[in-house]
Amino acid sequence: MTATIIDGKAFSAKVRADVKTKVDKLKQLHGITPGLAVIIVGHDPASEIYVRNKVKQTAEAGMNSYHHEMSADISEEALLAKVDELNKDPAVHGILVQLPLPSQINEASVINAIAPEKDVDGFHVINSGLLATGGDAMVPCTPLGCVMMLKDTIGNMSGKRAVVVGRSNIVGKPVAQLLLDENCTVTIAHSRTVDLADEVRRADIVVAAVGRAEMVKGDWIKPGAVVIDVGINRLDAPERGEGKTRLVGDVDFAGASMNASAITPVPGGVGPMTIACLLANTVTAACRQHGIKLDS
Ligand code: NDP
Repeated sequence: MTATIIDGKAFSAKVRADVKTKVDKLKQLHGITPGLAVIIVGHDPASEIYVRNKVKQTAEAGMNSYHHEMSADISEEALLAKVDELNKDPAVHGILVQLPLPSQINEASVINAIAPEKDVDGFHVINSGLLATGGDAMVPCTPLGCVMMLKDTIGNMSGKRAVVVGRSNIVGKPVAQLLLDENCTVTIAHSRTVDLADEVRRADIVVAAVGRAEMVKGDWIKPGAVVIDVGINRLDAPERGEGKTRLVGDVDFAGASMNASAITPVPGGVGPMTIACLLANTVTAACRQHGIKLDS
């Protein structure tokens, strides 16, 4: 079997087009322009590229984008004051604080200071709790993107065996929760799992969110399984020239493609879905804050 490639670029373009349609409706029917505020602290090059993409795609979707650059030595108190100001600003429907933050700042304190209804990253403890108990949570963007791609590929996932490798609060746990909500039988594997290969071999759905290059081997994949590779790992690629690098996922893509029925590539799989889901969450937040239900 050679797997179908799940095209995250194409799928995310569809999600963004749907977001734009909703934004147009909110503007025309309700006079509301959703607004997303992004706070970035310091000058981490990877974060800066990511934030630039967020700002660009927010504007392309017709939303207002508010970009706040804070210096790397900002105090926690000053950052909390900025979050408070944005919480109170009615033009801002979504707030995102780009992580990681410098060591003088407690990340949890900052995230939990965001008004839960504006927490478009879905990391606030209230949103984690709502997700775990079946409430109207803001769902973390990467997990939401993973499950949207799975639904689009598989359709009804009820009864499927899913293995999520990784148990972080931002990826592994929320992905597992969303798969449980789809009536999958879910196993969460982690660094203390005794026989990871054996767990993965039983899965109809594999989601890898570990951060270790090509750790999930091709022969662990059950024939016909669907594989979502969240990992982003940069490796040296001297074959491409001096100092060059390449990105790989947590799954051995070539090997897994021989067994899986469908698989996400890295890059071009889960990555593009994350910003698309952030935009979708901002529209959801704006609708909830104004008590509006949009039908498309
Ligand atoms: P974390 O480092 O927070 O979590 C990694 C998880 O992997 C932990 O639960 C850890 O287990 C588990 N793990 C580590 N080693 C092993 C092992 N040998 N066997 C089994 N499990 C193991 O990472 P994140 O969840 O934040 O991110 C995971 C990956 O996803 C990274 O590559 C990251 O860059 C990528 N990512 C991609 C995004 C995108 O937009 N595409 C967004 C977010 C992340 P334990 O808990 O026991 O330590």
